[in-house]
Amino acid sequence: MTKEIKEIRDIRDVPPVGKTSDDLVNGIQRHYLRTFGQHKPNNSVDYKYKALACTIRDRLMECWKNTKEAHEEQDKKRAYYLSLEFLMGRALGNAVLNLGLDEQTEEALHKLGLDVEEIIDQESDAGLGNGGLGRLAACFVDSCATLQLPVVGYGIRYEYGMFRQQIVDGNQVEEPDHWLRNGNIWELERPEHTQCVHFGGRSESYHDAKGTLRTRWVDTEDVLAVPYDTPIPGYKNGTVNTLRLWKSAATDEFNLGEFNAGSYPESVASKNEAEHISMVLYPNDASENGKELRLRQQYFLASASIKDVLRQWVEVHGNDFSEFAEKNVFQLNDTHPTVSVAELMRILMDDYALEWDAAWAITSQTMAYTNHTLLPEALERWPVYLFGRLLPRLLEIIYEINARFLSEVANRWPGDVERQSRMSIIEEGPVQQVRMAYLALVGSFSVNGVAQLHSDLLVEGLFADFYAMWPEKFNNKTNGVTQRRWMAWCNKPMSELITDTIGGDWVTDLGELRKLVPYADDAEFRKQWAACKHQNKERLAAIVEAECGVTFNPDAMFDIQVKRIHEYKRQLLNVLHVIHLYDRIKRGDTDNWTPRCVLIGGKAAPGYYIAKQIIKLVNNVAEVVNNDPEVGDKLKVVFFPNYRVSAMEVIAPAADLSEQISTAGKEASGTGNMKFMMNGAMTIGTLDGANIEIREEVGDENFFLFGLTAEEVEATRGHYNPDAIIADDADFSRVMELLECGHFSQFEPGLFSAIFHAIRSPHDPWLVAADFRAYVDAQQLAAEAFLDQNRWQKMSVLNTAYSGKFSTDRTMQDYNRDIWKLTPIPSKCS
Ligand SMILES: *Cc1c(COP(=O)(O)O)cnc(C)c1O
Repeated sequence: MTKEIKEIRDIRDVPPVGKTSDDLVNGIQRHYLRTFGQHKPNNSVDYKYKALACTIRDRLMECWKNTKEAHEEQDKKRAYYLSLEFLMGRALGNAVLNLGLDEQTEEALHKLGLDVEEIIDQESDAGLGNGGLGRLAACFVDSCATLQLPVVGYGIRYEYGMFRQQIVDGNQVEEPDHWLRNGNIWELERPEHTQCVHFGGRSESYHDAKGTLRTRWVDTEDVLAVPYDTPIPGYKNGTVNTLRLWKSAATDEFNLGEFNAGSYPESVASKNEAEHISMVLYPNDASENGKELRLRQQYFLASASIKDVLRQWVEVHGNDFSEFAEKNVFQLNDTHPTVSVAELMRILMDDYALEWDAAWAITSQTMAYTNHTLLPEALERWPVYLFGRLLPRLLEIIYEINARFLSEVANRWPGDVERQSRMSIIEEGPVQQVRMAYLALVGSFSVNGVAQLHSDLLVEGLFADFYAMWPEKFNNKTNGVTQRRWMAWCNKPMSELITDTIGGDWVTDLGELRKLVPYADDAEFRKQWAACKHQNKERLAAIVEAECGVTFNPDAMFDIQVKRIHEYKRQLLNVLHVIHLYDRIKRGDTDNWTPRCVLIGGKAAPGYYIAKQIIKLVNNVAEVVNNDPEVGDKLKVVFFPNYRVSAMEVIAPAADLSEQISTAGKEASGTGNMKFMMNGAMTIGTLDGANIEIREEVGDENFFLFGLTAEEVEATRGHYNPDAIIADDADFSRVMELLECGHFSQFEPGLFSAIFHAIRSPHDPWLVAADFRAYVDAQQLAAEAFLDQNRWQKMSVLNTAYSGKFSTDRTMQDYNRDIWKLTPIPSKCS
């Protein structure tokens, strides 16, 4: 018998994977047995999780391959989202949802006698980000896949993600997050696409074969960048996009030859240094720390990603870059990957022999920059000496970019040397600095803020000089969140009710939720709506009980503030209100009381002293409040430990009141605010970031507004007198008295002195005292509204109904229409 010789890649003979629950049962059993070698039933949830994850992954693989092939075949324009952070959370539930396998999966697990929740809980969060900026990147890639846009996410595969937060004696204790310890089913190593990244060395001139004077970067220390790909499934559309994360590794020839036998251990140790680059995520949100390793990470991502894109370009187009800018666009998520501007210039000139002008035409037409913050401490600057030592050739190019740019400024505003020094990419001073935001502004054709107010403030303030020069570059792209994870997956009860009522199109067209508006007046619908919310509150209460040992009554108002702990987000203002409520209870001022469960959660940067003090204060206040029998069910307070994506999936659906109380003009957008709104929570908030647009959509009557505007905040500076504000307000005075007399630090006198000094400082940048009265009054209105459950549930329905704008599907369509201009690529996969 003769056998036809087959090609291994001819997969037509591989039986297709089925999608019935029995197919899934077979898959789970097969992986359990044959992939993981588990023969007897045992207690390891991990292998059960892994067997299910592999079974789901099998159903992604073909479409993933097809999507890649379709992108290559069509040779249409592609976008690359460069981000130092992707806060993905868990992958399993999202993959099941987007593949449309939720019912079959549940059935399969039931047939096998497995507990769905327990298996879902086995997966570690991919916590490769700090907060909003990293989570935005994760929502973006989900929406791009759902819209079938050819977008690749590029990031770093940190061995250790965002630290795990433990609370010990009320204090934050950081633990390393070794999220890869049990392996990662969702990634595929692609060693064949490894890139080599250079550091150090020096730049030298030479004459090439044609006698042209050129530059090369020599004597470098090299590090390998090994890509790991994660599939990003679109929603029921056969598209599976790619998130490519780089891991650093020592080069193969890492000096073993150079060292004599005696130095063997030293040469192996140098391998370690190379591997350090992708070891750990820096845990600072909205502030930079200027560490050399961080700059290494930034260049590592930029260089590996750009080389990867150029590799693919050259494979198809050879050394012809004439159409490169028409077919490629890089979106820079904040300034973190901005060294890309210089890296693309370097490669085009040094490796592909393009002239400066040609290279600049390409670079400045392919880079687009998103700004994420107005806080001056977050604007990245790198000392020139450090930059020059680590990336000498890149610094040379940045100097040249700057020289040409400043001569443009000089031509436009002759004699205005003051303006030239203001706008220079190189900041003069005792220590010269590279201003990364300015490099991004000069090198990009598009610059956007992330909510309307933020974009307006950028061009009026921080970037005013650049706006005067290039108004056409500036635009706004209001953030969003993906309703697949933040509603359809995490809030099953409400999602089912909505789909039963208006159909399921909202999952890919969030504007459809407007069809819920008439149901806000339907008493029967409101009753079902409230029942969903109640069920979600029970789920959260069980976790709070287990994690914090505090009983939340699901009939009370769930008042929630979860986000990074930062002074500008004003968790302190929230605590002051809690102390005020406690004070009222103790004084017997409790007529028409609204019982409240206050939940505060979030991580503080490990070196951020005041933020850590705030965590301790919340815990101490909670201790007093929760153990006072006189308070009882009227008020409960917890600090929820280790806030992360998978925690938010339980928290957002259970919220009644969403705390969005930053000092106006400081929160660029916020996205937590959108998740809460979508899940039917009312917002109490300032006119800041996307709160403004949320209020515009839902209407003033369905939003608890308070506080100074951004303009008023600026006008207050210089004559701000918190002592007078406190003295004039009897409630505020009592709250400060309780704080300052040590009522919440009985055994540690003076513990919170830094906090009350900050509140009383005329230089408090966050103006906590200025907004106290307005905040307490708005809280009172919210409490009264909650007592009228008919009214509250109506407002809750309307919040969801008017949340359509805040889908990242809309955000991505805006980016694509105005910046990327990609053509969606349909899938051949079903
Ligand atoms: C949405 C989200 C954030 C951002 O929250 P903000 O309130 O916008 O600061 C941060 N961390 C996690 C885990 C999130 O899911």
